[in-house]
Amino acid sequence: MSYAMMRHRGSPPGADRAATADSDPRRPALFLDRDGVLNRRIAGGYVTSPEALEVLSGAWSAARAARRAGASVIIVSNQGAIARRVATESDVARVNAVLVDALGCRGVAVDAVYVCPHHPGAVDVADRACDCRKPAAGMLVAAAEDLGLELGSSVMVGDKPSDAAAARAAGIPPSRILRFDAATAGDAGARSLEAAVRALLGGPLR
Ligand SMILES: [Mg+2]
Ligand SMILES: [Zn+2]
Repeated sequence: MSYAMMRHRGSPPGADRAATADSDPRRPALFLDRDGVLNRRIAGGYVTSPEALEVLSGAWSAARAARRAGASVIIVSNQGAIARRVATESDVARVNAVLVDALGCRGVAVDAVYVCPHHPGAVDVADRACDCRKPAAGMLVAAAEDLGLELGSSVMVGDKPSDAAAARAAGIPPSRILRFDAATAGDAGARSLEAAVRALLGGPLR
């Protein structure tokens, strides 16, 4: 599992990321948004501690299906709380570690977590603009470079239009971009997400 905190626009690719190039390059990925997809969104707020993290089960079976199909599982998460100084990088890392553990306990190995710490309302002006905060494509593109992923055969699951926009900007075809809100999806929504992921990733990969 690799963990990447995105840095400022202009840093050379991979500058602050541990390169973990895969021995089987150009595999597809299932990209998962975090808040609203894997855990309960906090309306108007941020999940800044493990105590505030409520892991939701709806997307697990889809993620398991993706792994069985040979796809990587990558979490891509905007955490503007860092730039707004509502949370520190280590607060966010702790929450993500608990989430990744919870998923691992349920048979979903996460390959990498990418976090955008920037926000238009950042305390530090330098943290206001970036090319990684969704709807920008930066986190998906970085993951593809780091892990040798094929974006055109990957799938994005998110609860917001900005997730879909980031996926489109990264080159994921619209038919492979899925809207999923774990809090409202229910069992039927979870089953249909799994079926869609299976249909998109479950066939022959190469
Ligand atoms: Mg979300
Ligand atoms: Zn960013």
